[in-house]
Amino acid sequence: MGACHSHVRGILVVGAGLMGSKIALLFASRGYPVALTDVNEKVLSGATEVIRRSLERMAEHDLAEASGIDAAVRRIRTTGDLGDGTRGADFVVEAVPENLALKQEIFRRLDALCPPEVVLATNTSVISITEIARRATHQERIVGTHFWNPPNLIPLVEVVPGEHTSPRSVEVAFSLLSALGKHPVRVKQDVPGFVGNRLQHALWREAVSIVERGIADADVVDEVVKFGFGMRLPVLGPLENAELVGLDLTLAIHDYILKYLESSPNPSPLLTEKVEKGELGFKSGLGFRQWSPEKMEQVRTALETHLFRWLREHRTPQPGQ
Ligand code: NAD
Repeated sequence: MGACHSHVRGILVVGAGLMGSKIALLFASRGYPVALTDVNEKVLSGATEVIRRSLERMAEHDLAEASGIDAAVRRIRTTGDLGDGTRGADFVVEAVPENLALKQEIFRRLDALCPPEVVLATNTSVISITEIARRATHQERIVGTHFWNPPNLIPLVEVVPGEHTSPRSVEVAFSLLSALGKHPVRVKQDVPGFVGNRLQHALWREAVSIVERGIADADVVDEVVKFGFGMRLPVLGPLENAELVGLDLTLAIHDYILKYLESSPNPSPLLTEKVEKGELGFKSGLGFRQWSPEKMEQVRTALETHLFRWLREHRTPQPGQ
């Protein structure tokens, strides 16, 4: 039996912003013709250039063939019309803003436009897949594929079934993402935040709380992660780490410490106050600390360099190589 995605020839990506443009890049650079659609004409007309520049950066770091960039970009056709975008699409990825009503309407329309065997995937970060699928007739073909930013570089994609998603839809998504060289994982239940954002925001809630309670300032919180337990994270996940030190020690630590950790169900007052004052971090140049343009550029470059290096060291062969 062939791979579950072997019938997939064409891709539609809905939303050409930060995530959608790089998801389109991913498929096009692996040989798939991609239709990319957006309601914002300016975003849509700039998307091809954004994609070309990203591929050029990847080629500079030996993660894409410079000679293949033109062909990859040519595989992407942009259109402002969703119906036109669905022509020839066997797999759809939605990457419009994180708004339930908007996503429900997109899936209702996609469901009416696409033949029932076409799998429809949402890149929602935290919203229930079951809720997103609610207004579609063929809810069995709607599945979560949660890519991480930047989706052309971060390997993980969480594949999440909604209540009515068929095993076939999960398998098509999983098999296609594997063929793209991504690292898909199967999430068993459709819970808010899936796995990654539950873990990530449990850590961020505690980080904000430590600053709020005056236990340490923001620089120290980040240094504790980067120069401490964060150094183990590329090799050991938290549960592997717990097993390494011993589940008995983990139990003893939890028995003592859990009652002292932040467990508020509401966002921190400090975080709320900062956002109300317009202290948004990179977006406004001030957050927990001051951000000069040079410092922001330094951080962006350091992150990109780290991701490029990691990908070179862990590369999977491209088809034909
Ligand atoms: P974005 O704002 O950069 O892009 C969204 C695009 O969708 C915009 O260009 C907008 O014009 C377009 N759009 C709006 N309504 C539309 C419609 N009806 N039809 C077609 N296009 C439409 O947002 P983003 O950061 O790319 O996020 C997209 C999705 O991916 C969200 O669900 C978000 O939660 C998720 N996500 C984001 C990140 C991240 O780090 N930014 C990471 C993982 C997942």
